[in-house]
Amino acid sequence: MGKYHSSFQQTLWQLQITFAPDEYLELLARHSQPGDWLNSRVEIASYWDKLPRYLIARCPLCGVRFTNRADTHSLFMWGDSTGGRGRALSAHPENTVPCAHFVGVQKFINLNGNIPMELDYFPQAWGDVPVITPELLLHTAQTGVVMHSLPICRVERGAFTPKYVVYLLTYYAESPSAAHKAGGGGWTLFTASQHAGHDPRVGDLPYWVELGKLHWLDLDDPTLPLKSGPTSDFPYAGIQGVGGSYTYRKRPKPRWQWLDRSWHPDGVIYNSSENEVLARPSW
Ligand SMILES: [Zn+2]
Repeated sequence: MGKYHSSFQQTLWQLQITFAPDEYLELLARHSQPGDWLNSRVEIASYWDKLPRYLIARCPLCGVRFTNRADTHSLFMWGDSTGGRGRALSAHPENTVPCAHFVGVQKFINLNGNIPMELDYFPQAWGDVPVITPELLLHTAQTGVVMHSLPICRVERGAFTPKYVVYLLTYYAESPSAAHKAGGGGWTLFTASQHAGHDPRVGDLPYWVELGKLHWLDLDDPTLPLKSGPTSDFPYAGIQGVGGSYTYRKRPKPRWQWLDRSWHPDGVIYNSSENEVLARPSW
């Protein structure tokens, strides 16, 4: 298994490991539910304050950097129930809105063809293939979106090993409130992977680069400057995945053999209504 986009190798140098694998796994084992962590003040010193800080975007309108503390050691904190609700990569209290133009940040977790067997449950409503939300960019001339990516690890043979990637789209507008209004507000603010089928522009990232709306942080430069072209330098064309919302889940072995067909001891990746198998470990 493992199907890696060509940009994955370029993104690896950013990885910051701030825990020892044993210490980290022990920390995870103390909490069965990710939601626990957000309320647990005990873990501030042992977990939250040890998270690495990453550059996520630079505002195309004023140049201000958008940085966030995020846990790239594992997928544990990247499920739908634990994120920063479109304002940040994690619920870390230091993650704040960077400038007056910030509209929101969207995360697409791509498993790179790997099955996250280290987890029991992992829901991703936005899907794994990054798409653009046209409403957020076209309501006025002064808008832009910045793409970036970070590797995410799991512990394999006692070491943090990069297996997954998060593609990040950070939206900016002269008037974020007008952008929110145009985008529908709240959770509907962003478009999910599967909308690429409804409007071909949505999944055509080079189209938005060509239009001058989609920028990216240059992975080839250690200072990660903002790049806006040429389109031939854009590193994120042609990203593949399940192409829609997905949920990874482990289930107990079914009682009836005819239900066994889609069951696997290491879990299965379903569509979000969990009535269709999108991927599973090879037998
Ligand atoms: Zn700004």
